[in-house]
Amino acid sequence: MSHRINRTQRKVRVPSSSSKKGKKSKTAKPGEISCGIKACDGFSDKHLGGRSLSQENAIDTWGDGTYTVRKSRVRVCKTCYKTWKKDNKDDTSSHY
Ligand SMILES: [Zn+2]
Repeated sequence: MSHRINRTQRKVRVPSSSSKKGKKSKTAKPGEISCGIKACDGFSDKHLGGRSLSQENAIDTWGDGTYTVRKSRVRVCKTCYKTWKKDNKDDTSSHY
C-alpha cells in the first residue's frame, strides 16, 4: 500500500520591486532676473546671490553702456558681483 502524497505547491510570491520612487530633491530654481551686464547671461536673482550696484560702480568695472539699468541700479549676478568686488578691493588704501 502506498500513500499518495499530494503536495500542494504553494506559489512563492516574489515581491516585485517595481515601485521605485525616484525622489529627487533637486529643486534648483531657475533665474528670473537676468544679469544687468549685457555680456553676461547670468541671473541676478536674490536666491542666486545677485546684487545691485550703482551705475558708477558698473561704469568703473565694465564701462558705460555695457549694462542695463533697473530703477537706477544695476542688477548683477553673483559672478559679476565678484568681478566688481575684485576690481574695487582696497580702493581706499591704494596710492599711486
Ligand atoms: Zn553677470
